[in-house]
Amino acid sequence: MKYESLEEMNSQLISCTRCPRLVKFRVEVAGRRSRFLGEDFWSKPVPGFGNIDSRLLILGLAPAATGGNRTGRVFTGDKSASFLFSCLYEVGLSNKPDSVSRNDGLSVEYLYTTAVLKCVPPGDKPVNGELENCREYREFEIEYMKNLRVVLALGRIAFDTFKAYQKSRGFEVKDVVFKHGAGYRVGNTWLYASYHPSPRNVNTGRLTKEQLVEVLLHIKEKFLT
Ligand code: SF4
Repeated sequence: MKYESLEEMNSQLISCTRCPRLVKFRVEVAGRRSRFLGEDFWSKPVPGFGNIDSRLLILGLAPAATGGNRTGRVFTGDKSASFLFSCLYEVGLSNKPDSVSRNDGLSVEYLYTTAVLKCVPPGDKPVNGELENCREYREFEIEYMKNLRVVLALGRIAFDTFKAYQKSRGFEVKDVVFKHGAGYRVGNTWLYASYHPSPRNVNTGRLTKEQLVEVLLHIKEKFLT
């Protein structure tokens, strides 16, 4: 492996400037959000959070502009984070029902969460090889999870990225298609799909709390107990 530890990888990650468009945007976006004027934004690549020795990986797309990009912790400080952690708390997978800041006392024992892209992209859409640029970091995290048994992908991009990773390792992915709640054995790991808990999906009713709780409960019972 290129890095000897997660700490070593994260220390390299947070100074990464490989994607010029994202390097610019992760800083610029701070000045555009009047709600947070005067607040120091993290504005760097955002490391993962949780227990790297756990069996469950929750994989998101990227830090949110005023979430991870502001607070420096993935799924922290925005509406998607609040929704996700309210569900994790309900099924007993986090000690608090919200994720607010890096020093909020939140802990998760049975999962690790990270994003396939470590910097916030404009419009939440990576382009032109940005996902490929970031591959080294996410694949190190995945490979460093020695006890990994199940991945819950939040949204199609995270799902397809993990699927492509398993395909690149020679595993069959022909019938693996994104569908909320569906789970597939892909090689040595299970892959589950959920709609992303974005405000758009939640506000339109595409993803309800009950739907996400149901998937989390299923994963908890099948893989974590
Ligand atoms: S998205 Fe990944 S590869 Fe691109 S600048 Fe951020 S950390 Fe580096």
